[in-house]
Amino acid sequence: MRSLADLDVTGRVVLLRSDLNVPLRDGVHGPEVADDTRIRASVATIQNLRTRGARVVVISHLGRPKGGPDPKYSLTPVAARLGELLGLSVLVAADIPQARTMAAALSDGDVMCLENIRFDPRETSKDPAVRQELAGELSSIGELFVSDGFGVEHREQASVSDIARLLPSAPGLLVQTEVDVFTKLLENPERPYVVVLGGSKVSDKLAVIGKLLEHVDHLLIGGGMAFTFLAAQGYEVGRSLLETDQIETVRGFLAAAKGRGVDLRLPVDLVISEKFAGGVETRVVPADAVPTGWMGLDIGPATIAEFESVISQARTVVWNGPMGVFEIAEFSRGTQLVGEAIAACPGMTVVGGGDSAAAVAMFGIEGFSHVSTGGGASLEFLEGKALPGLVALENSL
Ligand code: ADP
Ligand code: MG
Repeated sequence: MRSLADLDVTGRVVLLRSDLNVPLRDGVHGPEVADDTRIRASVATIQNLRTRGARVVVISHLGRPKGGPDPKYSLTPVAARLGELLGLSVLVAADIPQARTMAAALSDGDVMCLENIRFDPRETSKDPAVRQELAGELSSIGELFVSDGFGVEHREQASVSDIARLLPSAPGLLVQTEVDVFTKLLENPERPYVVVLGGSKVSDKLAVIGKLLEHVDHLLIGGGMAFTFLAAQGYEVGRSLLETDQIETVRGFLAAAKGRGVDLRLPVDLVISEKFAGGVETRVVPADAVPTGWMGLDIGPATIAEFESVISQARTVVWNGPMGVFEIAEFSRGTQLVGEAIAACPGMTVVGGGDSAAAVAMFGIEGFSHVSTGGGASLEFLEGKALPGLVALENSL
């Protein structure tokens, strides 16, 4: 794969696929950016290109528009924020013909945006010919392509993979960092290698669990997904999150972990409540003693202590998924303390997952080696799957 430095960008129009899919909120003059983390993360590559004299056209999606232009999902407020961060005015072209005209008028170091790429339904079409048609039109805007949206690299989409086959292409700095980190984790993690998994759904993360069991020394499971594991061991889980259709698969994981000598740990105690809400009565109970009608919403103190002790011995830790309903103060302790233990571990520490990253920001935890910008993409990387956006870069012109 080429690197960004290998592209001769001076004086040329460079199409840059970034992930500027940020949360919006209602402002006085319409939607405004509620959290600019992803915009900030995209700035390094843009500045690299600008200082080398490139003329940058940024392409991104935003939200889930229903296959046509929708002012609610316009990139205008995002471009305005990007312009503030760059100290430039960043205009938005409404469509590809307008982008072509505007790009031709750019000077070296200028930056503009193309309007939300998902206003065009061809972007996410399942039909390769349809996507390639859009990619062909996009490629007429500029001469080179830089792929910097790690959060979409696992998608087969016109502005992610198809376009990289049509223009000389390279990964941006953000994607390069992510690829370096996850390649290291996949190929030669230092041991002990500990993975901490949580979050709401086992089914989302099933494939990665199977693969991780071949690689890790310790697998610590908390969050909502733990209850399917506890149920697989025959425990009553009350009204806790449970995916009954996954119990058999999870039994297979428990057996595989035993067979391979992987230390798979489940919660030994839980913080439970009768309601999914704050300000209600909570209790701490052993993991096999959830009363009927109650639900587990966080891991308990004994579990936190066990997880902390395993994490403190680790040389590599990957964390994906909160340990409890961290959004509600009563159930946030597990996520906060386990997060802090991971950040304090002197080995390589990596956080993946949108909600996990949000928890890290909410608690102000610092000191991780890397906080990934792509939840789904990072999990697919750890599964050993080929990510379409990266494959396309490898096969680029
Ligand atoms: P990530 O985005 O980091 O991959 P997920 O999307 O898988 O994480 O899960 C995050 C959600 O899981 C959070 O909103 C959190 O409230 C929820 N969650 C964690 N533990 C529990 C639990 N015990 N019961 C219900 N929901 C939970
Ligand atoms: Mg999530």
